[in-house]
Amino acid sequence: MNTAADIRQSDILDRCVSIDLEVDPEKAKIFAFAAVARDPDSPSLVVKGHVDAGLPRLDEFCRGFDHVVGHNILRHDLPYLAAASPRFLKLAEAPIDTLWLNPLAFPRNPYHHLVKHYQDGRLQTGHINDPEFDARLVFEVLENQLSEFRRLNERTPDALIAYHYLCCCTPNSGGFDQLFSKIRSAAVPTQSEAEEAIRRLLTGVACSAMVEQTLARLDDSSLCWPMAYALSWISVAGGDSVMPPWVRMQFREASHIVKVLRDTNCGDPACEYCRTQSDPKQALKRWFGFDDFRPEPIDEFGRPLQERIVESAMQGESLLGILPTGTGKSICYQIPALSRFDKTGALTDFFNTIRSQQSSDVFGQVLSRGRRGDCP
Ligand SMILES: [Zn+2]
Repeated sequence: MNTAADIRQSDILDRCVSIDLEVDPEKAKIFAFAAVARDPDSPSLVVKGHVDAGLPRLDEFCRGFDHVVGHNILRHDLPYLAAASPRFLKLAEAPIDTLWLNPLAFPRNPYHHLVKHYQDGRLQTGHINDPEFDARLVFEVLENQLSEFRRLNERTPDALIAYHYLCCCTPNSGGFDQLFSKIRSAAVPTQSEAEEAIRRLLTGVACSAMVEQTLARLDDSSLCWPMAYALSWISVAGGDSVMPPWVRMQFREASHIVKVLRDTNCGDPACEYCRTQSDPKQALKRWFGFDDFRPEPIDEFGRPLQERIVESAMQGESLLGILPTGTGKSICYQIPALSRFDKTGALTDFFNTIRSQQSSDVFGQVLSRGRRGDCP
């Protein structure tokens, strides 16, 4: 028996038409396309060859649907269609792009359970030049995303308030608005409602001063999608999930926002996040299980050199640390690298650090943190 949520979900899906274009990238020419409705028994439109003559039929087919849906349609299919004929501009009035939604619905590595179909933004169908298959698969992906958003809405309604607002800041976002309105049973939140939700989401996981600074920048609507991706990554920070590479490429501000929120020490002792996350001793305890750094050698103020070096590196300062052999140089770069990976998911820093250490044992050391004995 269908639940009320299933019925509401099919509601929006029935108003969507899924399209998929096959494009020759060298000639920038569409050579095949398909358009399908949700109902697998309803007729579909598939055109291979003689595409110019077939395009008017696509226009006709899409009439009567409220939303064009597709995977990467905003930066792929719709621009190609608009270039082919201005009649397709109206398809771009309220589209839903499943690629753009995916990191919000599935922030955790490996991002989507349809792994065999889905790798870093592309649907891996194994059906080359089968646009009908791909167009049907988009409905499956969208259904999974809707179910996941419903679960998230029950668990963390603030996330859905934030995403609803952030995904509807730019023009022609009526498709995303409909989708989130259905899930939340509410209209798009006001800016202040969204800001309050974002503050609650980021409490304890980001610098409070940087949260305010970032919220003030959201008047620039081009930062809204990057902010949504930053929030979704932060929701799974501390695990092994990295922001999908296509997000880092197409929404460069997303990782910058994460860095500002989580890896900028405001220096205010009242900021609990910065006080705890920038504390070298807490980092030592967390990553290696030791209470204190080695008492020798010390700096001119009597502080352990290891601690001074780790503190400076965690604050992103350029530094030159010189320690005698056997006095624990390795943690001086391991702790800052682990801390940065935890805060921003910055894998490259982490692995470059490992490479520079030229040691294959770093994982052994990290994994066995907490063992007794001398601080490494
Ligand atoms: Zn702070």
